[in-house]
Amino acid sequence: MAIPAKAESARQPLLSLSNINMTFGGVKALRNVSFDVYPGEVHCLAGENGSGKSTLIKIITGVYRPGAGAVIEYDGRSWSHMSPVTAQAAGIKVIWQDLALFPEMSVAENIAFENVLGRWPKPVNYRRIRETALAVLQRLGVELDVDIPLKEYSIAQRQIVAIARALVGEAKLVFMDEPTASLTQSETDHLLEIVHNLSTAGVAVVFVSHRLAEVLEISDRLTVLRDGALVGVYPVEGITQSRITELMTGKTFDQTVRAQDFSAAPEVLKVDGLCRAGQFEDVSLVVRRGETLGITGLLGAGRTELALALFGMAKPHAGQIILEGKQVKFRSNREAIAAGVAYLSEDRLSIGLIQPQSIADNLVITSLGKITSGGLLSDKHKRQLVAGWVADLGIRIGRQSDAISTLSGGNQQRIAIAKWLVADPRLLILDAPTVGVDVGARSGIFEIVARLAASGLAIILISDEVPEVYFNADRILHMAQGHIVEEFDPRNCTLQDIEAAVYA
Ligand code: ADP
Ligand code: MG
Repeated sequence: MAIPAKAESARQPLLSLSNINMTFGGVKALRNVSFDVYPGEVHCLAGENGSGKSTLIKIITGVYRPGAGAVIEYDGRSWSHMSPVTAQAAGIKVIWQDLALFPEMSVAENIAFENVLGRWPKPVNYRRIRETALAVLQRLGVELDVDIPLKEYSIAQRQIVAIARALVGEAKLVFMDEPTASLTQSETDHLLEIVHNLSTAGVAVVFVSHRLAEVLEISDRLTVLRDGALVGVYPVEGITQSRITELMTGKTFDQTVRAQDFSAAPEVLKVDGLCRAGQFEDVSLVVRRGETLGITGLLGAGRTELALALFGMAKPHAGQIILEGKQVKFRSNREAIAAGVAYLSEDRLSIGLIQPQSIADNLVITSLGKITSGGLLSDKHKRQLVAGWVADLGIRIGRQSDAISTLSGGNQQRIAIAKWLVADPRLLILDAPTVGVDVGARSGIFEIVARLAASGLAIILISDEVPEVYFNADRILHMAQGHIVEEFDPRNCTLQDIEAAVYA
């Protein structure tokens, strides 16, 4: 899919911006930025939080007016600024982070209401709305019942509805601002497939994502912003995750392998011949006190299913789970929690944390029993505990009563981890802990993981980003198609050895 250098000079960009400046109060959000997009390409816009990505998108889609001297060339015409109506009419569409949908309305209305409404003064024609919606969904290769209210659907499905809405009418250029931040890996997979199909159909997609593996998987080119300025534009072919991180942060992370030998430490978890038909087969592993066991592999390898079985949320069909020497057969995650297992799901943003609730309430939710005295939760006690955990984990928050949604992805993730620590587990399973987390904030999460391991917790770290397990685990299992196929010791192999095995 990559556009070869020759063709690039021969082809005209669909969109070309230059001299883009934007100031909010005293803050220079964009400084003399240029940016271009070719027809049908998948272009990743990368940068740390606050680097100006959303602002740039808002300028292109007419939400903000850039400073004087801006030139916006699109599809053969030139503007000094866009308006939302001009952008929309020209086929520039955007899927906002908050989706901006209407939960009470039907799927069909969410997709096509505005478009069909445009034909006013004719009365709103539900049949037209429905047909329009179905046609777009079909183009996306998605089947949804369009007549039921949107609120019946998951976040991932709502995201698809938002994409479908953007594609009603003509779309030439679609912006997606962190579309996968709250999706699980399988949902992300589906979304990436949709992005790929759009680009094959000639629609250019500009994609903002914090997940570097995903950027490398689907993008043709990459534009990097740092502090509102353009760092550069790069072909994705041949670039590495660590290089992207360096470009985004301007820092080189000389990571070192932390792995140690735990073979003499007592076993916390032993899994023997565990099977769950269609998901994983004959899985055997051991995790010891203080040890971090990494599990990596491609999407769909069965890692999350295995984690759910260890956490009592999916019943194994054969094999044994032995926790601190005793065989356990969890019938629910409650039993797993009671036995000292904690699981931080990959779906943190939709089920791990309760977004509108306060930071304090999110922290104590798994361990109310611990802080209630005589059946009542003591407010003072709660405040003290929360302050302790927040300080302990170096989490930056405003007030304890602020909603969890006011925190950055990295700080939300620390809260999600802290939430489990309150329950005092023996085994902590972290499933894709850096999804939706800024690269700069990731090292903070792994510092916490390292400290927890040092305190004696046994940790299973699941990640499809091989460097994450390579630099943070003591041993690494490669899982493919439901099987553990190989074990790596980071002290005796290179990052490339593991990547070669995983992507073979
Ligand atoms: P990104 O999307 O890369 O995280 P943004 O474009 O949202 O970054 O923000 C870039 C900078 O502009 C940040 O410093 C942010 O605080 C500031 N900013 C963005 N929108 C506004 C606004 N509406 N008012 C004031 N400052 C803003
Ligand atoms: Mg943004």
